[in-house]
Amino acid sequence: MDPISNKAEQLRDKIAQAERELQDLRRQLAELESSTRDANTEQGFDSVADPNQSAGTPLDWKWPLKEEEYSRYGRQLILPTVGIKGQLNLKSSAVLIVGAGGLGCPAAAYLAGAGVGTLGVVDGDTVEISNLHRQIAHSTSRVGMTKVDSLVEYCHGLNPEVTYIPHREHLTPQNAESIVSKYDLVLDCTDHPTSRYLISDICVLLRKTLVSASALRTDGQLIVLNNPPAAQGATDGGPCYRCVFPKPPPADSVVSCGEGGILGPIVGVMGVLQALEAIKLIAAGIGKEASSISKEPANPSLLLFSATSATPFRSIRMRSRRPNCFACSSDSALTLKELKSGSLDYVQFCGVTSPVNVLKPEERITVTEYNDILAKQPDKKHLLLDVREREHFNIGSIPGAINVPFSSLQSRNKSTTNNDSSRPEYIPESLPADAPIYVVCRVGNDSQLVTQRLKEMGLDRDGARFVGDIKGGMLAWKHEVDKTMPFT
Ligand SMILES: [Zn+2]
Repeated sequence: MDPISNKAEQLRDKIAQAERELQDLRRQLAELESSTRDANTEQGFDSVADPNQSAGTPLDWKWPLKEEEYSRYGRQLILPTVGIKGQLNLKSSAVLIVGAGGLGCPAAAYLAGAGVGTLGVVDGDTVEISNLHRQIAHSTSRVGMTKVDSLVEYCHGLNPEVTYIPHREHLTPQNAESIVSKYDLVLDCTDHPTSRYLISDICVLLRKTLVSASALRTDGQLIVLNNPPAAQGATDGGPCYRCVFPKPPPADSVVSCGEGGILGPIVGVMGVLQALEAIKLIAAGIGKEASSISKEPANPSLLLFSATSATPFRSIRMRSRRPNCFACSSDSALTLKELKSGSLDYVQFCGVTSPVNVLKPEERITVTEYNDILAKQPDKKHLLLDVREREHFNIGSIPGAINVPFSSLQSRNKSTTNNDSSRPEYIPESLPADAPIYVVCRVGNDSQLVTQRLKEMGLDRDGARFVGDIKGGMLAWKHEVDKTMPFT
């Protein structure tokens, strides 16, 4: 027999064995149920409500899980990675999900389904219709409800055996200790660097393992941090988020899902992987003081997922704790007191993206002014540049606008000069030299930067031509001029 058939044969044997064991468990259970029912009937009373036992579970139940739980979790109970011990570990565990969005919904659903004892959810947002294509636990009828309540309602429907703890607020340096300290394991399901550093720091300080994931557009990443969750300075502890990413990405490079877009299944994949890592960790005994898990070398892997790549999953082995890490090294000055005091400004650390304000008032026009120009002088030559990305532009645009995506402008060589021979190709040759150029973007930030740039290139011909932007961008256009304009 070749090695593959041999392996398959072994697996079939194992499955048959597991099925026999399950059958035997069911038989024992059925026998026990019928004998207890008989005994109760003879004694003339029905089962008495016991807060620790579900209705119908007999009083003299001698098995570690409740009667219903053997049916509910049967399919995972028979797996060697879970088993009865792993299931009991799940049942006695408390897991915190930070962020009830695209990652948090699938992660919470699978953890609730798997039977964790306590599931906490932190989020301060409410459900919006634009969430629904990816945040699968929410629903159209729950738009406007807090995300926490919506997710708890969904999970409760899935598994009422779990204790759910709603935290209807965002995690802050002030509330982080009191919330996180109640749990054994934390899942970072948020979508901004600011919260990632805060969650990592509180997990280091409270010695909690952290399953961190992120997703944008068609890519995602996943890493298990602080595993094992040793004390600050201990070399056998796993690295924290700051060990892996000591510096946050530049603030202006951080793109939100609103701006950059996200494909639903991408966050779905990453959230499901978070739940999987969490179940593996808990079933193996994380969070238990007398943990029997062997101390793995503290080198986690960073899993990268790219849906458009020929090899969608790649894994990069990371180094262990950084000797000079701000949070988890021996010379770290990070303390709970300092964190709570607010002296660590996470927003500042991650950089502030304040609204762009680089143009003078006379260099800007309002959407209604531009609409008047269109209405009153339909023949007057001018150029409207729409600098949103092509996908945004294709969904809806002002008639006559020319699309020159901001990203393509940024990547152009800055050395373009002001003589006519270097006229950018997006300026039509037929455009009269004094015809105004207006720039519009999504909300009125990029348009200012582009206007400034066009002037630097000399396109305003030393003031002979008006070059300016449209305040508030296409969002203002939708609100004030054309309510039918689709805005994304
Ligand atoms: Zn660290």
